[in-house]
Amino acid sequence: MVDAGLNVIRLNTSHGDLKDHERTVALARDVARERDTPLGVLMDLGGPKLRTGPTAGGHPINMVRGRLIRLTPETVEGDEDRLTIDYPSLLQDVRPGDPVLLDDGNIELRVERHVDKALECRIVFGGTLTPNKGVAFPASNLSTPSLTPRDLDAIAAGVRAQVDLFALSFVRSPEDLEQARAAINEAGADVPVIAKIERRQAIENLDEIVAESDGVMVARGDLGVDLPPEEVPVQQRRIIASAARNKVPVITATQMLESMVDSPRPTRAEASDVANAVWDLSDAVMLSAETAIGKYPVQAVAMMDRIIRRAEGNAPAGGYVAAPHNPGDHSYVIALASRTIVDVDPNLRAIVCFTNSGYSAFLMSKAYPGVPIYALSSDTHVLCRLSVARSVIPVPCQPVHNVEDLFEAVDEALLARGHVRPGHELLITGSLPVDLAGTTNFLKLHRVGETEAGWT
Ligand code: PEP
Repeated sequence: MVDAGLNVIRLNTSHGDLKDHERTVALARDVARERDTPLGVLMDLGGPKLRTGPTAGGHPINMVRGRLIRLTPETVEGDEDRLTIDYPSLLQDVRPGDPVLLDDGNIELRVERHVDKALECRIVFGGTLTPNKGVAFPASNLSTPSLTPRDLDAIAAGVRAQVDLFALSFVRSPEDLEQARAAINEAGADVPVIAKIERRQAIENLDEIVAESDGVMVARGDLGVDLPPEEVPVQQRRIIASAARNKVPVITATQMLESMVDSPRPTRAEASDVANAVWDLSDAVMLSAETAIGKYPVQAVAMMDRIIRRAEGNAPAGGYVAAPHNPGDHSYVIALASRTIVDVDPNLRAIVCFTNSGYSAFLMSKAYPGVPIYALSSDTHVLCRLSVARSVIPVPCQPVHNVEDLFEAVDEALLARGHVRPGHELLITGSLPVDLAGTTNFLKLHRVGETEAGWT
């Protein structure tokens, strides 16, 4: 999959054993070393996803339209008459008239009344329910904590395994992100957190959440349960636009090439969905079941890579609109200036961000300059995090301590990997002094192979 174009792996801790996830991180690191390429590792924290309980004998329940069923927070052997929902505040938070969606919305109930430690519900759309399926209450305000005990264990495992990014599921407010950060710090690390936007409350608090996040994910699977399907494309655009304004990366996720779980070729609609996500300005597009349980994981990655490249090669004339800068935002001013320079000088083939923290490369990506952005750093985690940023190609390079060494290091790192040839013209940005993090304050035109600092 790495050879086919995979840049980031996601470990979904809603599934499987944490020990297995730790082993997968080790495997990813081995493959990255073998292929000599940065490969981001993102650990996805399941958050407070509610589930149905067990069923009698593990048998499926036949839920028949029009019948009544009781939902209870108590643990019972589920059958046609009653079912456990693993949520202690069920009776306080859910009111008569509220809809209840089971199994990703395939089965729909409506609450009729409170009865004897249960909610009596009418089955609106029936189906067959197996044990431990997801449950959503799209119209109810739930008081679930943002992190479950399992999430805290996953954070400890992720910090031990040195994952590059965390993602938090079912974010409702900026405070949820603060709590996740505090738990990560408590576990001994400072790892960026991606907010998964999949709740109606997150849509209501979108800009506040995005401003507080290190990145966002359009988690269309659960979003399409909490909101009607016709809202998903509208909110996808809103979320991506908010990420562009706040200059953080955005991942568009779920069912992108879903038919490739069983088939070696995607549907035409899926190919268009991936291309439209690229044109909408997603930084990354994500596969889930296609690579986790599908029959054609390598083909799915290769197909997605081809669709992305073809879409990127057909950007709108004049390029994409970048967000304006805020006063004093010098690093972003350099990014916008770089875009203007490469727009008017077609000889400039690429931008190079010499970056200590990754910040300048993330910002450059948000200026949509229309050429590759080589992000050079000696910090492997910075390079792995940059794997989610649009148009950024992370390139390992030696640490440097003065500006002359910097230009030599750029040439050496890019020539060694075949990204450039002698004589190619590049625009380089970085900070002076060279080991200063978080401040981009120079921009230089550079011809590969020329060591004198005079060519501008
Ligand atoms: C989603 O709901 O779209 C999503 C990405 O989350 P998960 O895969 O954890 O359900």
